[in-house]
Amino acid sequence: MSEVEDMENCVYKNPNEPVEARIRDLISRMTVKEKIGQMTQIERIVASPSAIRDLCIGSILSGGGSLPFEKAQSSDWADMVDGYQKAALESRLGIPMIYAIDAVHGNNNVYGATIFPHNIGLGATRDSDLVYRIGVATALEVRASGVHYNFAPCVAVARDPRWGRCYESYSEDTEIVRNMTSLVSGLQGQPPQGHPKGYPFVAGRNKVVACAKHFVGDGGTDKGINEGNTIASHDDLEKIHMAPYLDCISQGVCTVMASYSSWNGNKMHSHHFLLTQVLKDKLGFKGFVISDWEALDRLSDPQGSNYRYCISSAINAGIDMVMVPFRYELFLEDMMYLVESGEIPMARIDDAVERILRVKIVAGLFEYPMADRSLLDTVGCKLHRELAREAVRKSLVLLKNGKDPKKPFLPLDRNSRKILVAGTHADDLGYQCGGWTATWAGTSGRITVGTTILDVIKEAVGDESEVVYEQNPSPDTFAGQDFSFAIVVAGEPPYVESGGDDPKLIIPFNGTELINSIADRVPTLAILISGRPLLIEPWLLEKIEALIAAWLPGSEGSGIADVVFGDYEFEGRLPMTWFRSIEQLPLHARQNSYEPLFPLGFGLTINGKKLSN
Ligand code: BGC
Repeated sequence: MSEVEDMENCVYKNPNEPVEARIRDLISRMTVKEKIGQMTQIERIVASPSAIRDLCIGSILSGGGSLPFEKAQSSDWADMVDGYQKAALESRLGIPMIYAIDAVHGNNNVYGATIFPHNIGLGATRDSDLVYRIGVATALEVRASGVHYNFAPCVAVARDPRWGRCYESYSEDTEIVRNMTSLVSGLQGQPPQGHPKGYPFVAGRNKVVACAKHFVGDGGTDKGINEGNTIASHDDLEKIHMAPYLDCISQGVCTVMASYSSWNGNKMHSHHFLLTQVLKDKLGFKGFVISDWEALDRLSDPQGSNYRYCISSAINAGIDMVMVPFRYELFLEDMMYLVESGEIPMARIDDAVERILRVKIVAGLFEYPMADRSLLDTVGCKLHRELAREAVRKSLVLLKNGKDPKKPFLPLDRNSRKILVAGTHADDLGYQCGGWTATWAGTSGRITVGTTILDVIKEAVGDESEVVYEQNPSPDTFAGQDFSFAIVVAGEPPYVESGGDDPKLIIPFNGTELINSIADRVPTLAILISGRPLLIEPWLLEKIEALIAAWLPGSEGSGIADVVFGDYEFEGRLPMTWFRSIEQLPLHARQNSYEPLFPLGFGLTINGKKLSN
């Protein structure tokens, strides 16, 4: 019998054999070169079908902005991913590759997909079931594009709004973040009762492999510096930052991504104690640990030097798959050297490969390696947009309603004769979506399908009402006009990772001045589009009639019209403490000297009730 024929009937290809038996069988057939290949994740930009096939590359990713082309739709993605998969299946053992993306608020790389609010907004909803349903919808839209693996959820507990990734965190509060880990079950499916703890779980072809990130302490860095140092006792690290991982692990999360940050001066990517002794041994995690993008290079100074040292310290610490992502030839060569010289023990390689194969088998990739085109209809479908709209609605936090609490300003009268809409963020879908949308850092304009706040206000008002839109009104705008009220939408432009670190947190584009100048003339509702609390001057707060924190709502602006015109009640509660002055930072609840502008959990309803936590 030829080798090929023999393999068709072998244990690892048989879905009826136990997963562990399939792993053992496959590993016993693999060469060292193939094992190292499986541990390698490369960027799509440098991936060629021949490299995937000949080097037995384990995984491909499209990091942030790496689209096949601008405005690529799901079917384009599916064609592309299938092309690589075909090459992987032609490799000697036919091991499928796993394709990864960051679908962190819906399938945000795909034109026309549903874009949900970023995590900070979902944290404001406190609605675990909603987040679960968002996971279900996201899994469908991701899988429709052929992709199997999603680098989400980010379960960072953001302790400082100066951090550029604050919006990727659900809350400053560990319990709130824990509650939102339901995204894992939404993405992967819910493991049945009695499922062994820590063992990866994926329910089937409509699901994706999830990734809890970034392990651990990414949200606790000093001064909120991205990739910085988290100074904390072991006890605090566990209680504040590690707890959400326990919830992810008990839901069978398949993968965990290591954090660029350090704990008390030691980089997480080479932290044997936390990656191996704690995460794998103590918490019982049986999936694989993936490095962050080029994170191994950052283990040496200057960055990228002494690569062999970087690789051996990361792999020996417990990293199983390396997001290389570009110089993979060098990585493979150095890995081979390190294995042959015994600097990385073979047992460590086998453990890493077992973990990777376990996830691939559990995810059904051997049985269903290709895109399922029957899922294409789910992308941006009505049902998912309704869900996103519900999420937007529930995420809005009403911070002020009327100068005189006895005279609430909201709901707005949809039949008012003349309404002024202004501000940088009133008619910009890209700004509404924030970072990680269409491109890595996000961008402005009609970047995808959706509705802006201006669109939905126009739609919601009565036939007799006139909506005047001026992004930056001049005195002329007001001359001879009789506006009933103004809606000013200001906030942050999109940003991502370190590019979002901000020591001042002033409303960009002179937002404070803009709101002030309009509030001077017309009763004003200010809506803030931002990934975090921003500095609100007390005199400005006095001057405006109403204030809403809308976070980064995504593609469905309609959720905002739902509440401002009173069709729905406000439900959102602050997921983070709103600081009064920058000198107070880091400021979070349960501190002794806690004098915020608005406390964690604060939120009003239209009928004047104060919500809390
Ligand atoms: C980020 C990760 C992300 C990865 C891949 C990194 O820069 O820190 O959160 O998953 O890129 O895009």
